Amino acid sequence: MKNNLVIQIFIAFFFAIILGAIVGPDIKVVQPLGDLFLRLIKFIIVPLVLSSLVVGVSSTGNLKELGNLSLKTVSFYMVTTAIAISIGLMSANLFSPGTGLDIDVPENQQQVEAQETPGIQETLLNIVPTNPIAALTEGNMLQVIFFAIFLGIGITMAGEKARTLYQLFDQLAEVMYKITGIVMRFAPIGIFGLIAPTVGQYGISVLWPLLKVILALLVGSLVHVVLVYAFSVKVLGQMNPITFFRELIPVIMVAFSTSSSSGTLPMTIKYSEEKLKVPRKISSFVLPLGATINMNGTALYQGVCILFVAQYFGVELTFIDQLTVVLTATLASIGTAGVPSAGLIMLSMVMTSIGLPLEGIALLAGIDRILDMIRTSVNVLGDATAAVVVSSSERNNPSDEEDYEEEDYAEV
Ligand code: ASP
Repeated sequence: MKNNLVIQIFIAFFFAIILGAIVGPDIKVVQPLGDLFLRLIKFIIVPLVLSSLVVGVSSTGNLKELGNLSLKTVSFYMVTTAIAISIGLMSANLFSPGTGLDIDVPENQQQVEAQETPGIQETLLNIVPTNPIAALTEGNMLQVIFFAIFLGIGITMAGEKARTLYQLFDQLAEVMYKITGIVMRFAPIGIFGLIAPTVGQYGISVLWPLLKVILALLVGSLVHVVLVYAFSVKVLGQMNPITFFRELIPVIMVAFSTSSSSGTLPMTIKYSEEKLKVPRKISSFVLPLGATINMNGTALYQGVCILFVAQYFGVELTFIDQLTVVLTATLASIGTAGVPSAGLIMLSMVMTSIGLPLEGIALLAGIDRILDMIRTSVNVLGDATAAVVVSSSERNNPSDEEDYEEEDYAEV
């Protein structure tokens, strides 16, 4: 049954590419199928993140343990993000995608540069919601996470008195996982509806001038996946990387076709628990956090694009500039929402930090969908890697042993 789904997704993917290529832009008629799938997964996100993160935080049992867990998770996220940017910079150095190019930017794409991007300070301040209910209704994920973490801490501190509230969130999370299972059955049709129009829309003439940017991102991503993810899963997570990647194929396909880590989150949680045996108390903490703040693919993409734009405009980047890029791109990737094209907008924040002309954004906007598919897949894989690594390190921590009983494993 489960394998059937993987096969169905592959078939849908294959037909989407063939039909998209043959029919061309007119294949857009199937777009509503993709949009329906997107809406179905989006409606799960807010209640799922809220409930599972509250449960994740409060089931750690005490604040010291929560502190340890957060420290491990956030350090892993930060280190891998900084590595990703460096790989991106190196990959773009290798491919030199911006040298010797002459691209006409269509009028309608020039608006992108006019987009307002929040500064670093504002990005950080914005994490704190002034009204948590508004954060929930607007789907502002960083704020929802902030609220959920504090609810979880409050529940932990209240202990017995807040037991019913804890159970309420626990049950809500369980129900949302079940709904995820139902929605996932629609994935093959949804993926078809998302991929076919993308293939139909992007002719080779659009992609050709920027092919080297795509290649630099692709090669950098592969290097990151092997060097950082496979290595971490094997050495720190004590899991066979082949099993890891194989089990996550449906999740990668959903990430690739939706270009949204938040949208993919329900599947990331479901598959990490069921297939990779990550205990729920870890997955429900590490993954919602990761889907919002851990964007290795986006960080790598920023590294590539910064060098691309610098090369295109003939700007020489000093060592200090590149260091600034690593710092600001780390922050920018944290501030990037897990939705399509968010990374492109945040790129302008990084470009401003080293004084690159913002017109560069307009150059990249035309192929952003393709770049987004790649970076989102890397983003999601990075979250699952962290879940496996943190789960293994918690397992090896003898003081936690009694927490890892059968019931901690999901049996959806
Ligand atoms: N679409 C990406 C994601 O959801 C974010 C980005 O645009 O870089 O992970």
